[in-house]
Amino acid sequence: MQSFAAIECPHCGETFEIALDSSEPDAEFVIDCEICCRPMTVTVHDGEVHASAV
Ligand SMILES: [Zn+2]
Repeated sequence: MQSFAAIECPHCGETFEIALDSSEPDAEFVIDCEICCRPMTVTVHDGEVHASAV
C-alpha cells in the first residue's frame, strides 16, 4: 500500500510529493529533487518524513 508525503527540498526549498511504502514505517533512501534534481536523503520515522542534503 502506498501513501504520499510532502517533503521540502533542502537545496531549493521547493515542496513536492513522494510516494511512500506505508508498510515500512521506518526507512531511509536517497532521491533526486523533482525541481532542482539534486540528491537528498529522506528519512521516515513513525510516519514523519524528513529530508536532508546528502
Ligand atoms: Zn530542489
